[in-house]
This record gives sequence, structure tokens and C-alpha cells, in this order.
Amino acid sequence: MSETHAVTNQASPMEGYDLFAADPLMAGALAREGGGWGTKEASALGALVGTPDYYRWAAQANRNEPLLVTHDRYGNRVDEVDFHPAYHSLMDIAVIHGVHSLPYERPPGDGARVVRDALMWVLNQVEPAHTCPISMTTSVVPALRANPSLAGAWEPAILSRSYDPQLGVVGAPGGKASALMGMGMTEKQGGSDVRTNTSTAAPVAGSDDGEYRLTGHKWFTSAPMCDGFLVLAQAPGGLTCFLLPRILPDGSPNSIEIQRLKDKLGNRANASSELEFREAHVWRVGDEGRGVATIIEMVNGTRLDCVIGVTGQMRQAVHQAAWHCAHRSAFGGLLADKPLMQNVLADLELDVEAATLLMMRLSGAFDRAPLDPAEAAFRRIATPVAKYWTTKICTGVVRESMECLGGNGYVEESILPRLFRESPVNAIWEGSGNVIALDVLRALGREPGAADAFLAELRRAEGGDRQLDASIESLTSALASDAGDEAGARRLVERMALVWAAALLVQFAPSEVGDAFVASRLAEPHGLLYGTLPRGLPLATLAARAQPLGL
Ligand SMILES: Cc1cc2nc3c(=O)[nH]c(=O)nc-3n(C[C@H](O)[C@H](O)[C@H](O)COP(=O)(O)OP(=O)(O)OC[C@H]3O[C@@H](n4cnc5c(N)ncnc54)[C@H](O)[C@@H]3O)c2cc1C
Repeated sequence: MSETHAVTNQASPMEGYDLFAADPLMAGALAREGGGWGTKEASALGALVGTPDYYRWAAQANRNEPLLVTHDRYGNRVDEVDFHPAYHSLMDIAVIHGVHSLPYERPPGDGARVVRDALMWVLNQVEPAHTCPISMTTSVVPALRANPSLAGAWEPAILSRSYDPQLGVVGAPGGKASALMGMGMTEKQGGSDVRTNTSTAAPVAGSDDGEYRLTGHKWFTSAPMCDGFLVLAQAPGGLTCFLLPRILPDGSPNSIEIQRLKDKLGNRANASSELEFREAHVWRVGDEGRGVATIIEMVNGTRLDCVIGVTGQMRQAVHQAAWHCAHRSAFGGLLADKPLMQNVLADLELDVEAATLLMMRLSGAFDRAPLDPAEAAFRRIATPVAKYWTTKICTGVVRESMECLGGNGYVEESILPRLFRESPVNAIWEGSGNVIALDVLRALGREPGAADAFLAELRRAEGGDRQLDASIESLTSALASDAGDEAGARRLVERMALVWAAALLVQFAPSEVGDAFVASRLAEPHGLLYGTLPRGLPLATLAARAQPLGL
């Protein structure tokens, strides 16, 4: 057989590098937000996630989707989910590295939250779907603490760094050493408006530990193989939060049936299910009627993880794009040297760097909020602002990155199709775009400290750039005048995110980055698509920042 051709002009796989160190701003942001002590851990995980094995497990876990096993061979209901071994490898790595537990392993303000968020960002670059139960397990803790005795019994397992996918008793002597947690709010008739929940919970007569029986359904419950869930249901005193264990303290299964798994656009390695409860045993968390106020403590954390998830995905997508362009020639030169491609890569990189600084600043606020009321007020408003903007831009960033690889980008092995399918989900769950934008208005209207905290954050950048100063001024007036304008909420929140991102870039990124962001996002509205940076910016320098460092 004679050769038909030699393989030339193809990039080599972008593997075998430290995903943490490859970003130009991340290490500095980690140190600035108090997590510098975690740099070694972040780099170690970055190198592990950058190995060919990890990329292969990520692909396998998505190609071999979780399977629902409703019955055993004798006809008994089992309601289990069967995962590919690669999924378990990914989960094992996440749990061993404490990505679910780190924020509680040190006191607040010590940067543990920030280090954890850097690790979470690393994982999300290559396989975002499995981080769903990791996120819920981290985030459940503050909500569960509304019932100190349940929290005392369950926290040791929730915070354990061992991964055990077998179901078992949690929170009782001799039970499982580790636990993963989920949450069930959404029902068929309402997801955003959880007050419409029809599941009911009746107190068990004579119970002295807040036990109820819950009957109803949940239309979306991700990671149904978790050991426990926080769920909302109507109790006599109104919508209430409950802990629902999969296995009861006596070792018998709780009355939970998995009706089916959702057939999803992306997020394929993660199982999302429809659940049915028939007098399931649950224990109250927080007061009757305080269900939303209780579970929002969990939702705050998962919203931060939405920001982290998309920022990681965008980082990876733009690295893939830049890597390809640095190794692929067309029309007599490298794609990375073509002025129009430099405009595309530079434009994409600006949004990745903006998202990275927003994410890490928000992470620092989460770390310090328990000790510092100003940070708590900032966190309240900054969380929905960051969630709205970063999750919305993700699909556009990934789509354009895919195109930089030409046809190769449309093929599964490039990883971009997987990131693309994943890209809309963080904008939908944990509060869809409109709901999140309205939450910003709610914070502005009902919590006066929130607007002040946000403006104080912007003013730290004052004097750094004339256009930015003018934008801060006009936003200050808009926050006062537009906070009641429901129809204009998206416009206001987008503006808040852009000015905040510009303020961070002007302070903490090289001047060419801050200048370019201000020129292309504040001085004039950014075009609908990427590659539309105005004349006069140092495109080659900005595009070079999109190359993975150290590779
Ligand atoms: C993959 C996946 C996994 C999920 N996992 C879970 C889970 O584990 N647990 C769980 O509880 N839920 C889960 N969900 C559900 C998710 O949180 C909801 O789908 C989401 O909150 C939106 O609720 P909904 O689907 O009922 O849409 P709706 O509430 O009907 O909203 C539809 C649209 O209307 C908009 N809207 C709503 N109210 C207003 C308003 N006042 N003004 C203007 N616009 C408005 C929303 O922004 C949205 O765009 C999951 C969803 C997905 C896709």
C-alpha cells in the first residue's frame, strides 16, 4: 500500500500542561483574594486535569451516559443510576482534592473558599458536568446549618474527602463515611416560582425531631444518586425546606422513585431526573414557611459555581482556539499572525479575563462575607450580576472559539462540541436570566446597602481611566433611577457587569487589557459578534495572551 499523504499542518493535542498556571491572571487573582497559600494545590490539580488520561475520562463519561436502573432482576425497585467508571474517576479526583469541602476546612476569611473556587474552575475547563453534585455538596452546608442537630450529624460525611458511590445510611453511627448532596425545588408547574410547589409535607404525630412525610414530585433533580437532598414542600405553615435522605436510618430505602432521566442537550455525564415521593421520610430544616429563605443559602453557593463553571469553560475554549491558530497555517502564514484572527482571539480573551476577575473577586467576597458586613452586602448584589453576565456570554465565546478551529472544532474529539452543548445550562438553572436580572433589582430596591457596596467596589478604580470614571458616574445615576424598571432590568445588569469588569481589569490587568476592554465595551457598545475590536488596539499583544502559558 502506498502512502496517499503525509499529515501536516495539524496542531498537536493541547494536553500535558498545568491548566491553573496557563491563565495570565488567575495566579495573581488567587493571591490577591487571600488564597495564595493554595497555589501549589491548584497547580497540582491543574497538571492532573491537563493529562491525556483526564481528557479521555472526560470524553468517556460524556459518551457513556448514566443509565437509570429502576428494578433489580427479581423485580424489586432499586432506583439507582449506573455510571461509567470514567465518571467515578472524575468524581474521585474532585472529592480527594476537597473541591466540595475546602471552604469549611479553615475559618472564613482564610482564603479556603477562594482556593476551592480555583480548583473548581480547573475541573470545569475539561469536564463541567460532574461538578454539579460537587457544587451542591459544597453549597448545602450553610442551608443545612438551619437545623444544627442534622448539620452536626451529616457534616462529617458531607465534608469527608473520600468518594463512596454506594448508597448507605448517613448521619447515624456505623453509617457511610462520605455523602454527596443534591436539591429538589423545581416542579412541573413551576421552577422559578417555587411558591407554586404542590408537594406536601405532613408532620409525623409525636415526632420530637422535626420528622415529616413528603408526597409529591420533582421535575428536575440532578444527581439523583446523591445520599441526601434539600427539598421544598408545602407544610402546614407554608413552603418549607426538608432534608430527604436516600437511605433511612434503619437501612431501608426511602420512598423515592426515579421516574426517568432527562435526555439533555449537554451536561451528559451528569444525571438529571424526575423524582416521585410517596410519604418519603424527611426532616425539617429551618422554620415552617421559611423554605425559600432557608434553601437560598444553598442557591447562593450554586450560583457562584455557575460563574465558576462558565469561566472555566470559556478559558478552555479560548485556549483551544489560540493553540490551534498558533499551529495552523493558511494562505502563507500562521492563523495566529493574521490580523483578523488576532482581532477575534483578542476580543475573546478580553471577555475571558474579565470573567476571571469577576469570578475571583466574587469568590473573595464569599470568603470574607461571614466576617465583614460590607463584603456580605457586596456579595448579595454581585452574585446575580456576575451570574447573569458570565453565563450569558459563555455560548458566544465557545461558539466563536469553535470556529477558530475550522471543521476540526465541530468534531467531538476537539472537546469544543462538548463545551458548546454545556454552555447554555448555567444560564438556565439556579435562576434563569430574567429571574436573575430581577433579583438584582430586588437587591437594589430592598437592600440599600447592596447598591452602596457595589458602587464602593467600582470607585476603587476611579482615576484609572477617564472613560471608566464617566461610566461609573452614569451607572451611579442609573442605579438610582432604573431600579424599578422591570422591562429594563437586563440592560441595567449588563451595564453593571461591564463597568465592574472594566474596573477590575483597569486595576489588576496589564494596561493594554483594561484599555481595550474600556474602548470596546464602555466607550462604544460591543458588536454582536467577536472580532470587532476597534482600530488602534495592540491586537497581536492581546491575542498572544490567549495562548496557554507554559505549553
Ligand atoms: C440540566 C438541568 C438540571 C437541573 N437540575 C435541577 C435540580 O437539581 N434541582 C432543581 O430544583 N432544579 C433543577 N433544574 C431546574 C432549573 O433550575 C429550572 O429549569 C429553572 O429554575 C427555570 O425554571 P422553569 O424550568 O420552571 O422555567 P420557568 O420558571 O417557567 O421560566 C421560564 C422562563 O421565564 C422566565 N421568567 C420567569 N419568571 C419571570 C418573570 N417574572 N419575568 C420575566 N421572565 C420570567 C425565566 O427567566 C425563564 O427564562 C435543572 C434544569 C436543568 C436544565
